[in-house]
Amino acid sequence: MAKFVTIRDVNDDKVALGHLELGGWVKTHRQSKRVSFIELTDGTAVAGLQLVIDPTLAGYAENVSKVQTGASIRVSGELIVSPGKGQKYEFQVKSFDLVGEADPEQFPLQKKAHSLEFLREVLHLRPRTSTMGAVLRVRSAAAFAVHRFFQERGFFYLNTPIISTSDCEGAGEMFHVSTLDPENPPRVNGKIDYSQDFFKEPASLTVSGQLEGEVCAMGISKIYTFGPTFRAENSNTTRHLAEFWMIEPEMAFYELEDNMELAQDFVQGVIKEVLSTCSKEIEFLASQEWVQPGHIDNLQAVCESKFTRLDYTDAITILEKSGKSFEYPVSWGIDLQSEHERFLTDEHVKGPVTVVNYPKDIKAFYMRLNEDGKTVRAMDVLVPRLGEIIGGSQREERYDVLLAKIRAMGLDEAAYWWYLELRKFGTVPHAGFGLGFERLLMYMTGMQNIRDVMPFPRFPGFAKF
Ligand code: ATP
Ligand code: MN
Repeated sequence: MAKFVTIRDVNDDKVALGHLELGGWVKTHRQSKRVSFIELTDGTAVAGLQLVIDPTLAGYAENVSKVQTGASIRVSGELIVSPGKGQKYEFQVKSFDLVGEADPEQFPLQKKAHSLEFLREVLHLRPRTSTMGAVLRVRSAAAFAVHRFFQERGFFYLNTPIISTSDCEGAGEMFHVSTLDPENPPRVNGKIDYSQDFFKEPASLTVSGQLEGEVCAMGISKIYTFGPTFRAENSNTTRHLAEFWMIEPEMAFYELEDNMELAQDFVQGVIKEVLSTCSKEIEFLASQEWVQPGHIDNLQAVCESKFTRLDYTDAITILEKSGKSFEYPVSWGIDLQSEHERFLTDEHVKGPVTVVNYPKDIKAFYMRLNEDGKTVRAMDVLVPRLGEIIGGSQREERYDVLLAKIRAMGLDEAAYWWYLELRKFGTVPHAGFGLGFERLLMYMTGMQNIRDVMPFPRFPGFAKF
C-alpha cells in the first residue's frame, strides 16, 4: 500500500515525491474531454492539492465524472513538481475511489463564499470551510503554545473542578447543577431543600477556577489551569459566550508587578508562536474582508513592545479630557465600559494597555487592598478592537484584611472558611490572572465574533449540535 499523507505535509515539503495515497473533500472539479482537475482539501492546510486525472482512468465514468464540490474521495498516484503555474506540486491520479457523494442540489456549502452568519446555522459542516479550518488549526496551535509557555517556566498544569459549590464572587451568573426534579423539587418552608440534592448543597458550573487555583499555588508554587468556564450572562455580544475556555495561572510570591510582566510575556509568547507555526493560516485569515489592513504587522508590533501601563485614576483623567461624549459618563469610581476601553486602546495608546489599581468597590473581595484604602491591586489587559482579554490581581494575603472585606461586602464568611485558612496558615503574597482563550483567538485571527472561534458556540438561546 502507498503511504497515506496529509496535504499539509505535502505543502510543507515533508513528503518525498513519488507514489502516495491521499483522502479528502473536493473543493472544485473542472472537467474537460482531455483532462479532469480536482482541487482537493483534507482540512490540514490552507492550500489544497491539485489532482490531475486522465479520462482514460479505469472507472472514470462511474466515479470521477460524478464528483462535485463536497464529495469525499480517496486517491493514489504520483506526487510531482507541477509544470503549471500557481502551485508547487500536483498529483497524478492512478486510482480513484469515490467514498461519499455530495448532491449539489442538497449540499448546503457550495463553491461561493458563505456568510459567517449562515455558517453558524450549519455548524456540522462549518469545519469544511477554509475559514473555519484555518481557525480550528490556529486554535489547536494556540492551545499547544499555552501549555508550552507555562511548562517551560516551571508551572504545573492542573484541573480545577467544573462542578463547583464555591462561588468565585462577582465573576458572573451561574448555571445550576442539580438532579432534583425541576417540576417538583422538595421544599422546606417554601424553599428548595438542597439537602436532598445530589451534592446536598447548591452546585453550579464553574465561573472561574481561581479560588481552587490559589489553593494549589499555596502548595506547589506556580500553577495554571486551562479549562471550560461557564457564565449564564444574558449578554448577546460579539465577545461573550456561555461556555468558553479560560487559562488561569496563579503564582506564590508574585506581586502585581510580576503578574503584569507574566501576562505580557504570555500574550506575546503565544502570538509569536502562532505567527510562526500557523503563518499560512494567519495570512489567509488576515486577507478576509472583515479584517483590518495591517493585521499581521500589528500583531508583530504587539510582540515587540511593552504594553502601556495606566493607573485606573490616570485612565479616568485621560477619558475625562478626551473631549468625547461617551454613552456612559466618566467619573472616578465607574467600571470601564467597552467604549472607554476602546478609546484607551484604539485611539489613545493604539495598542494593548494594562490598567491597574481599580477602585475597590467595583472589584472582587479577594483583590489586595492598596495603602490608600480606596484601590485594589487589580489589573486588566485591554487590546484594540476587543477590550479586556485578561483580568487579574494580586490577592489579599492578610487574614484580617480579607476577613474584614468579606464582612464589609456582606458575603457569607462561613462559606469561605477554607479560603481564609490559606491566610491563617503559612500565608504568602500571591497573584494570578484569567485569560479568555477565545478572546485571544479573536485577537490573533481577526475574527469579529467570538462565535466564530469556537467550533460549537453556546450563547443565549443557542446550544445546538
Ligand atoms: P467582561 O467584562 O469582558 O465581561 P469579565 O470582567 O466578566 O469580562 P473576568 O471575570 O475578569 O471577565 O474573566 C477573565 C477573562 O475571561 C476575561 O478577561 C475575558 O477574557 C474572559 N471572559 C470573561 N467572560 C467571558 C465570556 N462570557 N465569554 C468569553 N470570554 C470571557
Ligand atoms: Mn475582568
